[in-house]
This record gives sequence, C-alpha cells and structure tokens, in this order.
Amino acid sequence: MGVVRDIFIGLSENKILNDASKQMGLRFGAQKVVGGTGVNDTLSCLSDINNQGMSVTFDNLGEFISDRGEALKEKNNIIKMIKAIQKEGIDAHASVKLSQIGLHIDEAFCYENIKEILNTAKETNLFVNLDMENYVSKGPSLNILDKLLKEYDNVGTVIQAYFYDAKKDVRKYKDNRIRLVKGAYKEPATLAYQNKSDIDQSYFEIIKTHLVEGSGFTSIATHDHNIIEKTIRFIETQGISKDKFEFQMLYGFRKDYQQDLVARGYNMCVYVPYGTDWYAYFMRRLAERPQNLNLVVKSLTSS
Ligand code: FAD
Repeated sequence: MGVVRDIFIGLSENKILNDASKQMGLRFGAQKVVGGTGVNDTLSCLSDINNQGMSVTFDNLGEFISDRGEALKEKNNIIKMIKAIQKEGIDAHASVKLSQIGLHIDEAFCYENIKEILNTAKETNLFVNLDMENYVSKGPSLNILDKLLKEYDNVGTVIQAYFYDAKKDVRKYKDNRIRLVKGAYKEPATLAYQNKSDIDQSYFEIIKTHLVEGSGFTSIATHDHNIIEKTIRFIETQGISKDKFEFQMLYGFRKDYQQDLVARGYNMCVYVPYGTDWYAYFMRRLAERPQNLNLVVKSLTSS
C-alpha cells in the first residue's frame, strides 16, 4: 500500500506530466472529482451543491508556481472567482494555497497577494482558508496567518494531525476557524506519525480539543466514517451545538454519506477544486486511496 502511495505522490510531483495535462481538459476520470475548468462551469457545479443543502469551498488548482507573473495571474483568478460567487450569492468560502500566490518566491510578495484576496472577500464577509501544504510551507504559512489575524477575521487555516505538534497548534488557534485533517503529504518520522492508527488517534484528539477548548468554528475534513461517527458520539455526550462545527469532504467522494449527514442535520461543506491544473490534485487522491483508480478505469472504458 505504501509503495502505491509513494508512486502516486511521485507522479503528482512530476512537472512534465503536470504541464502536459493542462492542455488536455479534464481526463481519466478527473471530471468526477474536479468541479470545472473555468468560472461558469464551476459556478454551476457549486450552485448544484448548494441546492443539495451543502455549502462549498472552492480551490483554484495550481502548483509549482515559481515566477511572480504566474503567481499574480493565479491571485487574479482567485479574485475573479470570489467576485463571481459574490455576484451569484453562492454559499461558499475560498481555499487558497499560499504556494500558488508566491510563498516560495518571496513571503512579503505572497502576503500582499493574500491581503488583496482577503480585501475582496471581506466585502461580503466571505471566509478564506489557507490550505496547508508540506512541512516546508508550514512555518512561513503560519507566520503569514499570524500577521493576517491581527487585521482580518475572515481567515483561518488547516492543522494536520500527522504532525507531532498538531495539538500544540490546535491550542494556539483554538479561537479561530480551523479545518482539521489527517494530512496528505509525505513527511519524515522525525516530524510526523507514520502509521494509520497513530494518525487516527492524533486526529480524534485534535478534533476534541478544538471543539471543547476554544470558541473557534471547527471544520472536520475527512471521509473516515469511524472518525465521523466517533465525533458525533462525542458531540452528543458533550452537548456541543451543531452550529459550532461542520464536516467537510472532497467533491465526488462519498456522496451518499454527505447526503446522509445532511439528512441527520449536520452542516456539510464540499471542497471543490477547479481549473486546468488538475493533475497533481488527482494523483494525490489516487495516492490516498488506490481504490479511486476505479474512476480512471471507468472513464477509460466508457470513452
Ligand atoms: P482515510 O484515512 O483516507 O480513510 C479512512 C477510512 O475511511 C478508509 O479506510 C475507508 O474505510 C474510509 N474511506 C475513505 N475514503 C473513502 C471513500 N472515498 N469511499 C469510501 N470509504 C472511504 N490535507 C492536507 O495536508 N492539507 C489540506 O489543506 C487538506 N485539506 C483537505 C480538505 C478536505 C475537505 C478534505 C476532505 C481533506 C483535506 N486534506 C488536506 C486531505 C487529508 O489530509 C487526508 O489526506 C484525506 O482526507 C484522506 O484521509 P481521510 O481522513 O479522508 O481518511
């Protein structure tokens, strides 16, 4: 299993394949997990999800951004989507990867870009989540977040349970809106738990901590029914109000379960990636769950 995961993570980091896929449109089953390639098709996907009783968070796909011109282009794309969403009145928030808007080019430049995004979002109090990438990005991302939190209340981030210091981070951001995840990147044993049961245990710990210790809204982002049902039991015994948290799942995954949670009265938010730069995202989903390969097989056999 670990080998398959490593192969797909390796593929996700291949720049040549990334570049080639941009010319292709959504292929190999990616259309099942990516909301669209442009503004209009994505908006229609987002509003469909709203009509099913769920909110959405949208992610302008794009990785390996290493020049200022490209970073500015991505920043403008994000602002364009935010404005379109504000105009359409869609129930949505933005998920932004700081590496896409210059984190690894120049932190000050990235900071100016995210501020511009936040200023546009703020006009309708639209929330902006800073997605968390690998460990190299974590320190600089949190530096930027800390500066932003002095000025904005429509920004938050992600805490990854696989890091040994996840609980410390959760306590630091207990009064902020935070998304909690297991963690998607390959990190060394010096920094992060490696086996599933340790990660799951850490994940449940940080969920409980964020739910009870502070005032921040908790987004529990997982497809893991064991964790979700355990969390629901915890929430019920603690009498935690349903408006203090939401579940989040990726677009195209466990749709029946998403609907089931909505029917049970829980807030559900669907994470919708969009854009032409879908390849690395799709490979990471295959790395997490090789069963997702059935999306590829189905798309190849039906074309
Ligand atoms: P897993 O540990 O993958 O699965 C646990 C169990 O759940 C499986 O054994 C299986 O029984 C069941 N299961 C899982 N998926 C399915 C399925 N599709 N169908 C049926 N059963 C299934 N990671 C980051 O590092 N940074 C981020 O910013 C980030 N943002 C995210 C946002 C969202 C909305 C989500 C959902 C995930 C995000 N992730 C992020 C990814 C996350 O860290 C995990 O890598 C990813 O969610 C896989 O772990 P899991 O918790 O879903 O469950």
